[in-house]
Amino acid sequence: MAIKMFAEILKYEYVIVYDSANGNKLHKTSCSYITKKNYELKVIINQEKNGYYRPLEHLEELNDTSVRPCKVCKPNHG
Ligand SMILES: [Zn+2]
Repeated sequence: MAIKMFAEILKYEYVIVYDSANGNKLHKTSCSYITKKNYELKVIINQEKNGYYRPLEHLEELNDTSVRPCKVCKPNHG
């Protein structure tokens, strides 16, 4: 899978952060947790060994029950 640039991720409304250590979380891309620093650490420095980012246009596209909404940005509440 080709690695998306961080700027590409930000074009979407939502992003799922898959993380084998901390669990999978759904965020709004405006969330304070969604930063270029975090992205580069996981995707580029750690080479997606512990997880990856998947952008999402609409909440309806989410069909993975392992994904939990972020408690900070509350993506499931509009
Ligand atoms: Zn969030």
